[in-house]
Amino acid sequence: MKLDARVPEGPIAEKWSKHKMDMKLVNPANKRKYKIIVVGTGLAGASAAASLSEMGYQVDSFCFQDSPRRAHSIAAQGGINAAKNYQNDGDSVFRLFYDTVKGGDFRAREANVYRLAEVSTQIIDQCVAQGVPFAREYGGHLANRSFGGAQVSRTFYARGQTGQQLLIGAYQALERQIQAGGVKMHTRHEMMDLVVADGHARGIITRDLVSGKLESWAADAVVLATGGYGNVFFLSTNAKGCNVTAIYRAHKKGAGLANPCYTQIHPTCIPQSGDYQSKLTLMSESLRNDGRVWVPKKKEDCGKDPASIPEDARDYYLERKYPSYGNLAPRDISSRAAKQVCDEGRGVGPGGLGVYLDFKDAIARLGRKTVSERYENLFDMYKTITGEDPYQVPMRIYPAVHYTMGGLWVDYNLMSNIPGLHVAGEANFSDHGANRLGASALMQGLADGYFVLPYTIGDYLATAKQPKITTDHWEFKRCLAAVEAQVKKFLSIKGKRTVDSFHRQLGQLMWDKCGMARNEKGLRELLVEIPKLREEFWTNVNVPGSDANLNSALEKAGRVADFLEFAELLVLDALDRDESCGGHFREEHQTEDGEARRDDDKYCHVSVWEYQEGKAPIRHKEPLTFDNVHLATRSYK
Ligand SMILES: Cc1cc2nc3c(=O)[nH]c(=O)nc-3n(C[C@H](O)[C@H](O)[C@H](O)COP(=O)(O)OP(=O)(O)OC[C@H]3O[C@@H](n4cnc5c(N)ncnc54)[C@H](O)[C@@H]3O)c2cc1C
Repeated sequence: MKLDARVPEGPIAEKWSKHKMDMKLVNPANKRKYKIIVVGTGLAGASAAASLSEMGYQVDSFCFQDSPRRAHSIAAQGGINAAKNYQNDGDSVFRLFYDTVKGGDFRAREANVYRLAEVSTQIIDQCVAQGVPFAREYGGHLANRSFGGAQVSRTFYARGQTGQQLLIGAYQALERQIQAGGVKMHTRHEMMDLVVADGHARGIITRDLVSGKLESWAADAVVLATGGYGNVFFLSTNAKGCNVTAIYRAHKKGAGLANPCYTQIHPTCIPQSGDYQSKLTLMSESLRNDGRVWVPKKKEDCGKDPASIPEDARDYYLERKYPSYGNLAPRDISSRAAKQVCDEGRGVGPGGLGVYLDFKDAIARLGRKTVSERYENLFDMYKTITGEDPYQVPMRIYPAVHYTMGGLWVDYNLMSNIPGLHVAGEANFSDHGANRLGASALMQGLADGYFVLPYTIGDYLATAKQPKITTDHWEFKRCLAAVEAQVKKFLSIKGKRTVDSFHRQLGQLMWDKCGMARNEKGLRELLVEIPKLREEFWTNVNVPGSDANLNSALEKAGRVADFLEFAELLVLDALDRDESCGGHFREEHQTEDGEARRDDDKYCHVSVWEYQEGKAPIRHKEPLTFDNVHLATRSYK
């Protein structure tokens, strides 16, 4: 596998401008001759499809939901970062770049991160022009709040529904192009395979989830914007449909998978309440602007009514340990701190797996009305789920799987190592290193879709000069037959266990041994347990019904089969990375006060895995160099 990141020469602040000049263009009259497949209609996919169509390309857009608007991006709550410096508090493109590289624990590619910070300001202008109702100050200016890992306020938001409002903006742009005929929308279509012909990505195979029909689609380039794989842990804050299938099947066709072990555990989620729960709920990081995190100092107080615990008996542990960032310490650090106090027996709520997020002081300082204006829907959601009123009692929160920094490897142009296969949004490994800062995923998805791919795909099309291809090509037929055989296989097993039961068991294994903390022993055990579970899946799963109509068990079977293979790769990567960095915490490598200890000599690289049929995958490395932000031990103290 050849990994060429194709980072342009020159000073970091000029790379993207220079690159845009250097890239080849497609003549406006020729654009309509090219077809581009975009899989995914979240922020990354919808913005890419709409922009490419607006430029004149023919776009085929796919999603598995019944509407592009139901992509998981709709769930994003807290906000989107941009280096506008509206608060005049010292923000700049360089500071956002710096915070993101440091927040990612120096495991991201500098040039990509700089470009992300650079285009962040344009995203806000674009969205405002679309009518996205960002929160505003009394005088009409756009409002900002703070998110973790930053000492400035640069997060733009629409109450606790930022993803929804941004997606409606991107969706409107997409709908406009559908109406204009530039985008053909295929809802309820699941991508089952990538078709690579003569070394280039030339199309996909889909299954119509309503009729069961398998179809082939040919194109000049393919974009995967298929989101993250957090559901490999079964319980996560992700929508239930989020999966690894599209990127994993592309991986099996030769695309390198980068840093699969980098998963983000979010510190503020509603704690799990029972064994039959199928999903966890996020309480946005934005709440930590005003909420204070604490646990009782003494174990004996954990069962008491929190109101009865006096101030001096409370441990505001984030404020104590990280006085500079306090409750807005980054997610990896805040999650581990929560785990630490719970491991000490100072957790609250059922099973002692919870910490308080308390708004008492904020309500006293700002008044209930202001707190409600900022967070009303989050407070309502919390009350509906727990039956407790967070205006009266502190929220109880606990860390949960939330985001995946790993994904398909891409170069500076967001193209994978398979020519023509581009990857955007959470599906690529991109810009967040070993830990993503809050409010940076929406920024990245929209940067990729509105501002990067529209340039770089043109360069690919203008230089690759591939002949036209149709679905009559033998490779399409081969892939379609393989997908059909897999679908039939699921139905033929007729075992005794549901798909969900395998998924739940896999998730439990992953959370226990490859969750917030990992060690060599646990990871090695997983490398035995996962293949065993996979073997049982293929002999004992029960997929009822038929493949000729809507069959959610069949849909899940394909996704879980991929999770069962991908999980092993994730664990292998976690074992191979014998250091702690960001969200990847190897217990063997920690400082005396429990912080992650990196090993820059051995692991300052992106790990990129190459699939090998029937054999162990091969690990390649993309070395990381830091010329503009110097490698340093991360400190938020
Ligand atoms: C509860 C929650 C709150 C969040 N809040 C924030 C926040 O405030 N700020 C922030 O920056 N980030 C936030 N995030 C993260 C952020 O929402 C996601 O990272 C981001 O929205 C992902 O966008 P995406 O376009 O890459 O993918 P998604 O929005 O997940 O879209 C994936 C698309 O791919 C399609 N797809 C997937 N697989 C297939 C397939 N095989 N075939 C066909 N289609 C397929 C789906 O149908 C969907 O259209 C939050 C995440 C969660 C879980």
